[in-house]
Amino acid sequence: MTTLPSLQTTDPISALRAIVTGVVAAPGEPGYERAVPWNVSVPVTPCAVVLAADADDISATVRVAAAHGLTVAVAATGHGALPVDESSILVHTSALSECTVDAATATARVGAGVRWQQVIDEATPHGLAPLVGSAPGIGVVGFLTGCGIGPLVRSVGLSSDHVRSFDVVTGTGAQLHVTPDQHAELFWGLRGGKATLGIVTAAGIDLLPIAEFYGGALYFDGADAGAVLRAWREWTVDLPADANTSIAFLQLPPLPDVPPPLAGKFTVAVRYASLADPQTAAATLAPMRAVATPIIDMVAMMPYAAIGAVHADPVDPMPTHEQHTLLAELTPEGVEALLSAAGPDAGSPQVIVELRLLGGAMSQPAPVHSAFCHRDAAFSLMVIGVLAPPIADVVPAHAAGVVGAMTPWSTGGELPNFSPASDPARIARCYDEDTTAWLAALADDHDPDGVLRVGQVVRTPRA
Ligand SMILES: Cc1cc2nc3c(=O)[nH]c(=O)nc-3n(C[C@H](O)[C@H](O)[C@H](O)COP(=O)(O)OP(=O)(O)OC[C@H]3O[C@@H](n4cnc5c(N)ncnc54)[C@H](O)[C@@H]3O)c2cc1C
Repeated sequence: MTTLPSLQTTDPISALRAIVTGVVAAPGEPGYERAVPWNVSVPVTPCAVVLAADADDISATVRVAAAHGLTVAVAATGHGALPVDESSILVHTSALSECTVDAATATARVGAGVRWQQVIDEATPHGLAPLVGSAPGIGVVGFLTGCGIGPLVRSVGLSSDHVRSFDVVTGTGAQLHVTPDQHAELFWGLRGGKATLGIVTAAGIDLLPIAEFYGGALYFDGADAGAVLRAWREWTVDLPADANTSIAFLQLPPLPDVPPPLAGKFTVAVRYASLADPQTAAATLAPMRAVATPIIDMVAMMPYAAIGAVHADPVDPMPTHEQHTLLAELTPEGVEALLSAAGPDAGSPQVIVELRLLGGAMSQPAPVHSAFCHRDAAFSLMVIGVLAPPIADVVPAHAAGVVGAMTPWSTGGELPNFSPASDPARIARCYDEDTTAWLAALADDHDPDGVLRVGQVVRTPRA
């Protein structure tokens, strides 16, 4: 363990440079630009960026911060970025790039800087699947600490239910190996609590024997949006538990990587992914194929490595605005409310308005209890806009209107991964009361100085 006799006798950046082996970058210095997140609308201006080379660097950063009255925020890719100001040091985990697949045990050990694409690349040649989210560019650890809802969530459950271990640095700088049996309270809270209980340096995860799946997306013209959404609602009522689907109203810009039939206009995507045999999976999807003539039908057998094609999420950094809620049900009235608020005649400025069907394996109790609180939610509603002229000013209010229109069917809850926010009221919607109380109490125990009290964390309010 590093000893830090002179931490308070010098400025924090000099203190960091004396003991951190990775890069320490002050504003304007090489490396500081790594603070710019994927969501470029979020201001991230820490007093320093530490490109941590190992867990010791993170422990040292936490202790320097404590000695100087600073907080420590963490980022890997910036897909779930939150504002960070000069009262914080930002630990950037991108150099923690270990990704080791053990095909014999169907497990992987993954450093905190690894994106899902790297795990896909390492695991799929063995016929093994990491349980990724919709976008392979997301960071593994950020995703898992928010529990992780992937395109196969109804078939395989939450991705965090397939975590075996975490290595974590707590708010005191302690380095702990956390499993269902060791520091079990942290194993519980790190799966759902985001960075509340510490900065994860590596995760051990299960890989599933999934070499291929039947899936992809049907894209329909905006003129068919009403018919497609109404049919999708009815179709989801009796969908087999192992069939996965989401529907999205899209208004994609005319960019080079957007297929021309989808560019610059209102379209509807019905995403689908099934682990059933191809005939059964196709028969299940048939009613949706028959609703209208798709302008693109790319649903087929696919190698698992192509799982990102189901959602075809944007890859390049952009200034996004997200608003989200969970729904207890989707009634015919709810469908009409959503069409009025965000359908093709609503004048919506949003790029994506998405409903994901939840349930299936996700609704089953976790093999090892976690801090995830929404297993009974039926749908996730996500509204994503771009904060760029000329629509930047109208996107947030319109998004609030869409979510507001669905209030009668909302659970009031939010998913930790879909609610990047420092606002305690919004964070509270991610958890029930007991979970909030436990997370806050554990955070106070493991971080008595409040070094990690920044960003999307659950803490007891300060007196
Ligand atoms: C295009 C897109 C698609 C998405 N699709 C899905 C999806 O299908 N399913 C889903 O569940 N989510 C999805 N998300 C949300 C995503 O999982 C979260 O934004 C997640 O936090 C991203 O993690 P990151 O490390 O990439 O991002 P970052 O912005 O780097 O980190 C976000 C947060 O994750 C936590 N975190 C990151 N690293 C650590 C660490 N080492 N230790 C502890 N906490 C850490 C912190 O709270 C941090 O503030 C999507 C987001 C985007 C932008």
